[in-house]
Amino acid sequence: MNHEQSRALYDRALSVLPGGVNSSVRATRPYPFFVEKGDGGHVIDADGNRYIDFVLGYGPLLLGHSLPEQVQSAIQQHAAEGPMYGAPTEVEVELAEFVTRHVPSVEMLRFVNSGTEATVSAVRLARGYTGRDKIVVMQSGYHGAQESTLVEGEGDHTAPSSPGIPESFAEHTLTVPFNDEEAAHEVFEEHGDDIAAALTEPILGNYGIVHPVEGYHETLRELCDDHGSLLIFDEVITGFRVGGLQCAQGAFGIDPDITTFGKIVGGGFPVGAIGGKSEIIEQFTPAGDVFQSGTFSGHPVTMAAGLETLRYAAEHDVYSHVNELGDRLRSGLQDILRDQAPEYTVVGRDSMFKVIFTRDGPDSFDGHCEAGCRQQESCPRFDYCPKNGGDVKQAETERWERLFWPAMKDRGVFLTANQFESQFICDAHTGEDIENALEAYKEAI
Ligand SMILES: *Cc1c(COP(=O)(O)O)cnc(C)c1O
Repeated sequence: MNHEQSRALYDRALSVLPGGVNSSVRATRPYPFFVEKGDGGHVIDADGNRYIDFVLGYGPLLLGHSLPEQVQSAIQQHAAEGPMYGAPTEVEVELAEFVTRHVPSVEMLRFVNSGTEATVSAVRLARGYTGRDKIVVMQSGYHGAQESTLVEGEGDHTAPSSPGIPESFAEHTLTVPFNDEEAAHEVFEEHGDDIAAALTEPILGNYGIVHPVEGYHETLRELCDDHGSLLIFDEVITGFRVGGLQCAQGAFGIDPDITTFGKIVGGGFPVGAIGGKSEIIEQFTPAGDVFQSGTFSGHPVTMAAGLETLRYAAEHDVYSHVNELGDRLRSGLQDILRDQAPEYTVVGRDSMFKVIFTRDGPDSFDGHCEAGCRQQESCPRFDYCPKNGGDVKQAETERWERLFWPAMKDRGVFLTANQFESQFICDAHTGEDIENALEAYKEAI
């Protein structure tokens, strides 16, 4: 594979963009390939190499790169009529109506421009609504590049995880390991009266893919109820991917107070949203007093792309297609691991997947989860499967990044650049893509 053009572009990029990129995960080693264009479930790079694309923009592209006619024409029409106005438009109302009709806990929502903006605003809203300052987050959960959640440490011994964030932000953020009910009980026992909200992804999607153990979200829901705190589900990655149009909260039967969205709901354009019970969401200005505003919020082109993408998914069998391919891929991966690396773990559900290079596994493969870890206690892998971000970090992350990722790239398969970020299947992927990907895994693992 020739990468001369990508190398030359990266050379230029390094002079004008820090690290040569605009988002840190894109700086793959030794240099990233530059994308020329997308084609269905594939991307083609600046040197003409073609890859099966399982990155899909890190999550937003449910349909892939070749958008159906109805999505394309809606985008083009809104772009042609003048891109945005600073006055409300019908398409914002339509997308909001669509989301509230399908997502069980959401009665009302505010659109913003990124997942980060959504979680920032959700935390401010929870603090404003409850009059409390503290939030509980999962260790190594990801909620975007925001001050309140970029923390490390445990319990109330937290510190900012990046330079540039004052210590005082971390003072208000308490952390617990995902899936650890005891730690959640302890933090609420000690700080319950000061906790505005517990914030979690329903499935950790940015630090391996970690499924909740049975009862974990129910425990968080109960603790929040008992202490007058809000439960915030960050569905930026799982929204309109896991559980289809009802999102992960529908699949798990959990009723969060606030939900954050991003990624798919903008149909490939910059987006975020904060949804929930009207009583809470109406605390946002101008209905309420919690300040929230944005020049580009509810951008007509984004709203049209999101609305037509979700309509298309509702009218066609998009979710059954991507989920079926997901099952095939994950069970194919199980078969490969059984022969070649029985200690590794296949994770994910619906159209999310990943292989975690765990260091230990059970002696027997009999009776384990068929197509991705579900954290079932009856599974022989249960004790070995990563339960939280810390467990994923213990895996062979260097091998994944330095040997495995480049080997897959050489075989024409584009995966997320390290052990942690989720990978996705889109509607444009085919059975043949799955077979070809499995061949590449077989050779590269
Ligand atoms: C991607 C992501 C974010 C951040 O969204 P941006 O649009 O990148 O700001 C927040 N939370 C979760 C769970 C995400 O996956």
